[in-house]
Amino acid sequence: MPDKVVEIQDLTVKYGTFTAVKGVSFSLGQGAFGLLGRNGAGKTTILRALLGLVPPDGGSLRVLGMDAARRPASVRARVGYLPEGQVAFPGMTGFQAVVYAGRLSGLPRRIARRRAHEMLYFAGLGEARYRPMEGYSTGMVQRVKLAMALVHDPPLLFLDEPTNGLDPAGRKQMLERVRELAGRRGKTLVLSSHILSDVEEVCDEALLLHEGRVLKSGVLAELTAAAPRVREVLAAGERERLEASLGERGISVIRVDRAGPFLKIRVGLPPGAGGREIFGAVAAGGGVVRSLVEVRRSLEEVFGEAVGGGA
Ligand code: ATP
Repeated sequence: MPDKVVEIQDLTVKYGTFTAVKGVSFSLGQGAFGLLGRNGAGKTTILRALLGLVPPDGGSLRVLGMDAARRPASVRARVGYLPEGQVAFPGMTGFQAVVYAGRLSGLPRRIARRRAHEMLYFAGLGEARYRPMEGYSTGMVQRVKLAMALVHDPPLLFLDEPTNGLDPAGRKQMLERVRELAGRRGKTLVLSSHILSDVEEVCDEALLLHEGRVLKSGVLAELTAAAPRVREVLAAGERERLEASLGERGISVIRVDRAGPFLKIRVGLPPGAGGREIFGAVAAGGGVVRSLVEVRRSLEEVFGEAVGGGA
């Protein structure tokens, strides 16, 4: 593998008169990388340009040392791609779809079938692999798509919103598989997502895209370090006293709602503070904490300042 697995320089991609990607540059070595951004930020367009599926209107793209615009077939042979959205293979079972993907990438029939079984097992699809895909749930389709991306054993993976449409258990399982691919199985991967926690669970580095431009990039922990951590506290007590007590300890009150006999208070923690400080502040304000949960942060909350005050 070359040192730089993916290299993009000043990439611009247009759809007609609309510019979806505007002068994006970045390079990736080996490891797991996040491509973060809201819907429409340009993530899919970048992945498709790297696969030679949309032509660049400017700039250059290299994948595994190859020019992606000039040698798209060679690039696609060495990349596993899990596309966004539904895939339709009318009349095919999940197993047949994965064998088909293997055959398309040049595997002999016998090997394609063996690999299809192995990768469907890895992706977590059991006996359902022999049923037509028309009856599949979103989660089952995502598993088939993962197996299709892996069937030819590529060293590099592009996974576009792999947790879309999954329930919490399915999401957890998918992220565990992706983490295993990047870890024990030694794949380099690009994970595109609009959910920060998905990327945090798998990747060390990330790139934040907004309206076709790179807003920030680097080590994920550093990118998110400055962002306030948000908690939701369910407490009994007097609203004014609790708010004042939290405020005195530098804990910002984002909003307060009534929840039956309790107050549901959303707070932002200053650096270094945690649950202990919240319990202390509520007690000092004459209240009692009933529960305390971490709020799953949205991209907007975490990168609010970077995208212009957050929307
Ligand atoms: P999503 O997760 O919703 O796909 P994304 O970050 O992957 O978001 P893209 O799919 O790359 O974003 O889309 C970037 C922009 O380009 C969006 O404004 C989208 O509407 C537009 N776009 C994408 N594909 C086309 C197309 N074929 N024709 C015209 N505009 C397009």
